[in-house]
Amino acid sequence: MTHDLAKLPSVDRLLAKAAVAALIETHGRALVAGVVRDTLAAARNAALAGAPLPDESALLAKVSHGVTLTTRPKLRAVFNLTGTVLHTNLGRAALPEEAVEALITAARSPCALEYDLESGGRGDRDDIVKDLLCELTGAEAATVVNNNAAAVFLLLNTLAQRKEVVVSRGELIEIGGAFRVPDIMKRAGAKLVEVGTTNRTHLRDFAEAIGHGGPRTAMLMKVHASNYAIHGFTHAVPEAELAALAHERGLPFVVDLGSGTLTDLAAFGLPHEPTPREAIAAGADLVTFSGDKLLGGPQAGLLVGRKELIARIKKNPLKRALRVGKLTLAALEAVLRLYRDPDRLAGRLTALAQLTRTEVDIRTAAERLLPAVQTAVATLPVTVGIVALKSQIGSGSLPVDRLPSAGLAIRPQGKKSGVLNRIESALRALPRPIIGRIEDGALLLDLRCLAAHEEAVFIAALDAFRCA
Ligand SMILES: *Cc1c(COP(=O)(O)O)cnc(C)c1O
Repeated sequence: MTHDLAKLPSVDRLLAKAAVAALIETHGRALVAGVVRDTLAAARNAALAGAPLPDESALLAKVSHGVTLTTRPKLRAVFNLTGTVLHTNLGRAALPEEAVEALITAARSPCALEYDLESGGRGDRDDIVKDLLCELTGAEAATVVNNNAAAVFLLLNTLAQRKEVVVSRGELIEIGGAFRVPDIMKRAGAKLVEVGTTNRTHLRDFAEAIGHGGPRTAMLMKVHASNYAIHGFTHAVPEAELAALAHERGLPFVVDLGSGTLTDLAAFGLPHEPTPREAIAAGADLVTFSGDKLLGGPQAGLLVGRKELIARIKKNPLKRALRVGKLTLAALEAVLRLYRDPDRLAGRLTALAQLTRTEVDIRTAAERLLPAVQTAVATLPVTVGIVALKSQIGSGSLPVDRLPSAGLAIRPQGKKSGVLNRIESALRALPRPIIGRIEDGALLLDLRCLAAHEEAVFIAALDAFRCA
């Protein structure tokens, strides 16, 4: 055994090889030497455990692979073929080119982030998007924080600390990633008062809760039940009635919309989703929503509403802790500008383009891509075919609506389904990973989110596909 180990080359010997010299040229000596040492240590340990010693060319291949693994970015671009358009784990909305350019410019050069170019004095970063947000929602004022969870937290902490917030029991939701309305309330220092039942809540439930609380009540709140729907014997109080009741008692009415499209999705053939403009028009004093769900922008939490309430929120010291950076504001401004031209929105806003893509168009893409996928898996005991699929909007938006889509289905020949898991993980291991989903005994690749201009890159990515 010891005799065998002595046959392993030294670190210096491997570092002197031409193939390793090329790696050093690109990545630097320190990094490559580290990988060489790790590779030799792994070979030594494997040999001690009884594995055969690798020859020099096998060691060089391992070094090269090791260098690739440690130097490639962790935050890599992937192909989202999951069928979920706004996939939270895959970064939600893909940004339109206008936003990408704006954020690159802001990253590269100094920019007037908090600088009033007219007076030469200090500015307010919220002013970059405030007017656009007011124009698009009909609100008097607006502010921006890190995400919608932060927006809800900040609003409760500012307006409802040590006070009661009245919410319908049917709206005490949990959003994926541990956003739970009751927990956020508690952390914000507000006391939750649940009213009504899971399926039915009436105006009198709210009125009684205010009656009990008296001056202890801070607000009436409505939370959009983004990611689930209640069917059957249900009743929810319309926003306008809640607003009227709140105002009668001198209280604000606030709405957490979750996803917040700034346009009427029905005009694009999609199911209607409540908009901030509608909530404001119904009498909401504050509305919060996400920047990266249906809005199609960067991660952000937007708060719009009455001037004096927004002013109080902005004075909360926690606003400073939850504020957004210049890259977010640059991208957000560019996205909001697109909404000023609804006629061209579907062509320009990437998320909306993906959501409105027709089944026929996606099926045609599937026909174009079928041969490349067939070639990639040709040696494996599977078949590939074109299938009708249903995409999901994702991010808790429009939970029960599915969009007719199409894609490729890889099915095992015979009963062995282990091959699907192997293909699925090999696709995930590509330099640009391809993420599909296994469902009903097939590996499904929903092509809705693969834009036509990305197909060549996708086919090139498949070239690197190797499945053991
Ligand atoms: C998604 C969502 C949130 C959380 O928003 P993030 O932007 O993910 O922080 C809060 N409330 C509702 C109703 C939501 O749908």
